[in-house]
Amino acid sequence: MKDVDADTARERMVSDLVDRTNITDTAVIDALRTVPRHAFVPEAQQSAAYADRPLPIGEHQTISAPHMVARMTALLDLDAGDRVLEIGTGSGYHAAVLAEIVGDGNVYSIERRPSLAHAARDRLTRLGYDVLVRTDDGRNGWPDAAPFDAAVLTCAPPTLPSAIPAQLDVGGVIVAPVGQADQTLIRAVVRSDGTLERESHGAVQFVPLR
Ligand code: SAH
Repeated sequence: MKDVDADTARERMVSDLVDRTNITDTAVIDALRTVPRHAFVPEAQQSAAYADRPLPIGEHQTISAPHMVARMTALLDLDAGDRVLEIGTGSGYHAAVLAEIVGDGNVYSIERRPSLAHAARDRLTRLGYDVLVRTDDGRNGWPDAAPFDAAVLTCAPPTLPSAIPAQLDVGGVIVAPVGQADQTLIRAVVRSDGTLERESHGAVQFVPLR
């Protein structure tokens, strides 16, 4: 996709999204306006790069729909300088959106599939994003980099892995799809005694955490 065409398509995607959803977080909207989604989408999907739907990225995985990335990111309530853990790097798109908000060196993203992790790391570097990408099982979190202010899962575990809240500060926020056949988007905040205050945010459909 040519840069001018991409800029026009992206602007239209964002204005449609603002009209159709109740997402008002300007940092999130600005991030979607900035990150070149077409650079995260395979050649065969270029014409759909700015459609508001999930797209295949190989290995039976998908890049989430922009409205879902926006919604999950808004629920994280991020400030510049926050340290964020992402489980499921995939294409690296959501990691780039997070990096636009929290800044360089503050996004730690784990991807289980080596080929996706390598491609995402190269792509993010080429686009100028300083995101740390590691190939590993995200269920263990990233203990060496803890504590985090927030964590987002872009693949669905049957239940929330206990290592994730353990690596968050008190007041830290987790946003995750949880469940198997029926998944719910949850937002959980770590209380001072280490337990979680949970809210449900409706039914969602994500690839399973493996
Ligand atoms: N955030 C991504 C979308 C990722 S799709 C984007 O913006 O493109 C979910 C990803 O989670 C897939 O790439 C899948 O390989 C990965 N995944 C599944 N189980 C995992 C696990 N246990 N640890 C880390 N990543 C996992």
